[in-house]
Amino acid sequence: VDLVTVGHQRAARSRDDLRLAPGEVFLAGGSWLFSEPQPAVEGLVDLTTMGWQPCTVDSSGLSIAATCTVAELLDVAARHDWASQPLFRQCAEAFLMSFKIWATATVGGNLCLALPAGAMITLAVALDAEVVVWTPDGGERREPVAAFVTGVGSTTLAHGEVLRGVEVPAEALASRTAFRKMALTPLGRSSAVVTGRVDPAGRSTVTVTAATTRPVVVRLDAGPDADVVAAALAAADAWYDDPHGPADWREHVTGLLVREVCAELGS
Ligand SMILES: Cc1cc2nc3c(=O)[nH]c(=O)nc-3n(C[C@H](O)[C@H](O)[C@H](O)COP(=O)(O)OP(=O)(O)OC[C@H]3O[C@@H](n4cnc5c(N)ncnc54)[C@H](O)[C@@H]3O)c2cc1C
Repeated sequence: VDLVTVGHQRAARSRDDLRLAPGEVFLAGGSWLFSEPQPAVEGLVDLTTMGWQPCTVDSSGLSIAATCTVAELLDVAARHDWASQPLFRQCAEAFLMSFKIWATATVGGNLCLALPAGAMITLAVALDAEVVVWTPDGGERREPVAAFVTGVGSTTLAHGEVLRGVEVPAEALASRTAFRKMALTPLGRSSAVVTGRVDPAGRSTVTVTAATTRPVVVRLDAGPDADVVAAALAAADAWYDDPHGPADWREHVTGLLVREVCAELGS
C-alpha cells in the first residue's frame, strides 16, 4: 500500500532520534504499516537503523531486541538446546501465511500491534518474558509481556515510548513446553492458541492467546492440571469474537486444547 500522507522517513541512529514529531510513528519491519492505509501518519522513524543486536544469550536468559525479525530469532533458537526450543518455531508457524513475513516482521512490531493472534506475543507470554520500554524522558520501564498487551490493538505504551526489547529468563528457556493451535484453515489466522510450560522446579504455566482479547496466564505451583486451568479460565471473561471465530466456539476449543496441552506435559 502507498502511504500517501507520509511526507518523510527518518533513519534513527541514536536515542535522541527517537523523539517523535507530530504525525510521526515508529517503523520496524513495516509488514503491517505498509499493509493498509495509515491516513493519520505523516512521517516514519525507522527503528531498524538503531543497530540493536538482534539477540543476546547469557546465563540470565535471552534478550531479544525489538527489531529482531522472526527469522533471526528462529536462527538463534535453532543454535541452542533449550528445552523450550520447539516452542519458537511452533509460535512462528502460527503466523498467518507465516513464511512470507518471517524475514520482515519484527518481534517488537508484533508485540506493539497487539493483535490477539500475535504469534510473538504467544511466545513471549509463554516464556514469562518482560518488555523493556524506553520512555521519552530518557528512562526505562519493565513489565511482563502479559501485562503490556491490554486488549485488541492496545498496549501500555504511551505516545513516544519505544519498545526496546524483550527479556526471557533462563528458567523459562529451560522449561518443557507444549503448544496447540486452532485456525479455520491450515495456514489461517489463529483462532485459539494454548501453550503449556513446566519449569525445572516442577511449576507449570498455561497461556491462552488468539482466543482472548488479551493474553491469559494461569500459573500452578505443581504440574499442569486441566481441571484447575479450566476453572481459572471460566473466570477469564475475555473471549474474542471476530470473523475467525465466535467467542463461545473459541472458549470451547480452548478448553479442548488445554486438555491436550496438560496431557502432553503430564505424560
Ligand atoms: C501475510 C501477513 C500475515 C500476518 N499474520 C499475522 C498474524 O498471524 N498475527 C499477527 O499478530 N500479525 C500478523 N501480521 C501483521 C504483522 O505483519 C505482524 O504483526 C508483524 O509482527 C508486525 O511487525 P513489523 O515489524 O512488521 O511492524 P510494523 O508494521 O513496522 O509496525 C507495527 C506497529 O507497531 C509499531 N512499532 C513497531 N515497532 C515498535 C517499537 N519497537 N516500539 C514502539 N512501536 C513500535 C509501529 O509504529 C506500528 O504501529 C501479518 C501480516 C501479513 C502481511
